[in-house]
Parts: sequence; structure tokens; C-alpha cells
Amino acid sequence: MAFRLPARTLWQASPKLAFLPRATSQAPRWVRRYALPSLDHQNRTAIVTGSSRGIGKAIALRLAQDGYDICVNDVAANQPGAEEVVKEIKDMGRNAFPYAADVSNLQEVQQMVQASVKELGPLNTMVANAGIAQVKALLDLTEQDLRRMFEVNVFGVYNCYSTAAKQMISQGSGGKILGAASIVAFKPFALLSHYSASKWAVRGLTQAFAMEMATHKITVNAYAPGIVGTAMWDLIDEELGKTTGAKKGDTIKKYTNELIALGRTSVPEDVSSTVSFLCGKDSDYMTGQTIVIDGGIIFT
Ligand code: NAD
Repeated sequence: MAFRLPARTLWQASPKLAFLPRATSQAPRWVRRYALPSLDHQNRTAIVTGSSRGIGKAIALRLAQDGYDICVNDVAANQPGAEEVVKEIKDMGRNAFPYAADVSNLQEVQQMVQASVKELGPLNTMVANAGIAQVKALLDLTEQDLRRMFEVNVFGVYNCYSTAAKQMISQGSGGKILGAASIVAFKPFALLSHYSASKWAVRGLTQAFAMEMATHKITVNAYAPGIVGTAMWDLIDEELGKTTGAKKGDTIKKYTNELIALGRTSVPEDVSSTVSFLCGKDSDYMTGQTIVIDGGIIFT
């Protein structure tokens, strides 16, 4: 015979709880109060790493449209792109500045956070978006390949998460931390194995940070794009094509046709609209999640 719980409410089940006076609000009185204060009345600021182009650029522009002032970060070589993004944001009437830093270097990330606070005010939001990809068979990887992948995609995310969290804790009013994962954080792509492993690490770090930061009113979530037509996929398309003999552009077309339920390659704005939600108050009760935006490649 199947085991069945008696049909009793929680109030009946626990005599201790039954004698607690009911709060006038909906929230039960015994909840731990870690919920976020609303940022609506605060000046909203965000650092977006790797935002001179691609998904990061779309996120920086979308958050500016949402009312944030933005620190536009990228490596020194991509500062011309960062300056153009800053100009676009200023044309919208928001404040922004470009900042050259390599996210794999902790000291540079610490200096970037200080510069952002000085330039824009208290830091509310960190989007650890910067990342690199490489197409290579597992048995051909050099130690340097593996190290660089993890230095940027994992240490880089850790440096941004931890430095932003320390700043937000010192400010005492919570915040939002986000990182770029990928669908390969759920199911690896062959020949992108060390990239896939680095994104699994982002998903793990996001869950662990969410647990430890909740008490400081900081939520930590990640976004997982699928196949987005950016410079990163130009490289992947070209390199995968070399292994199969496919022409430039044919691999991304094949993957789009065969893998994506919605039948089109993703654009950066598909991702930035979800990031906007994860940065805003409508996601205040979400933490530790990695949200897939892939047009229906993998189903979580
Ligand atoms: P992209 O290559 O177009 O842009 C990435 C940006 O990050 C570049 O401007 C680059 O200079 C910057 N960057 C790289 N290393 C850096 C470092 N050490 N410090 C600071 N900046 C650095 O790539 P994208 O497609 O816009 O990807 C953005 C993020 O989304 C990445 O983390 C990527 O792994 C992830 N992602 C992309 C896709 C996709 O299909 N394009 C899919 C899933 C996840």
C-alpha cells in the first residue's frame, strides 16, 4: 500500500507554529529576512565585463536603457570598441566610462571596482560576462590552453564575483551579481571540452556564491546563451569547419537548422533582455540559477 501523509495543514501539524500570531503581511513570521531592498530609489550602477562588443555590448546598452550608469570593461586591445559603447550610452543620457582591465588579474579587477565606485557611485550590479573560447580536441590541449581557459572563464568570474561582493557588503545594501555560463554548462560540445568545463565551473561558482551571499542580500545568477552570432561564434564556426571541411558560415547554419527548436541563430539582444530581468527587481526572489536562453537546444 502506498504511504500517504494525513491531510493536515502545517498549522495543525505543528502546535508551536499554530500559536504564533499571524503577521498582517503575507510572509510568515519565521522566515529569515534576507530579501533584497528595492534598488528603485537608489542610483543604479553596473560593471559589464567584456562589453566592447557582442553579448556584453548588448547588455551594457540594455542596462543603460533600463536606467543604469555603466562601467564598460574590456581588455586594452578592445578599448576603441569600449569607447564607442560609452558614447552610445552617453547619447541615451546616462553616465558611462570605459575601463581597460584583464578579468583574469585580481588586482586589475579590484582597481576596476574602485574606479567604478569613484566614477559612478555605489556598485549595485556586476555582470561577469567576459569569456574566451577555443576549438581543440581534448588530447591536443596543451597545459597552457587549459590554464588560459580557466584563468579567464573561471578565475575571471571568481575575481569579479568576489570583488563585487566585498564592495556590496561594505556598502550594506545588497546587490545583484551575474555571470556568463552557456548551454555547454549543461551538455558539453565536442571539441569545445575545456570551454565547456569552464562554463560548468561558472554554474557551480554561481550556486556556491548564491548560498554564501544570501545573508548579505546579494543574489547571484548566471545566464546560459546557446548559439549567438558574435565574434566568438565566427571563430568556433571557422575552427569546427576546418575539422569537417565545411565552408565559413556553414557550421553555424547546420547547427541552427539541426539543433535550435525556434529555427534561428540567436542575437545578443535575446540574451540582454534576460540579463535585464535578472538585474531587475522582478527577479529578487531568484538566486543560484543558471537561466538558459537558447531558442530550445537543451531543456532543463
Ligand atoms: P565575444 O568574443 O564577442 O566578446 C567577449 C568579450 O570579452 C570580448 O570583447 C573580449 O575582448 C572580452 N574579453 C576576453 N577576455 C577578457 C579578459 N581577460 N578581460 C576582459 N575582457 C575580456 O563573445 P560573446 O559571444 O559576446 O560572449 C560573451 C560571453 O557569453 C562569454 O563569456 C561567452 O563565453 C558567453 N557565451 C557566448 C555564446 C555565443 O554563442 N556567442 C554562447 C554561450 C555563452
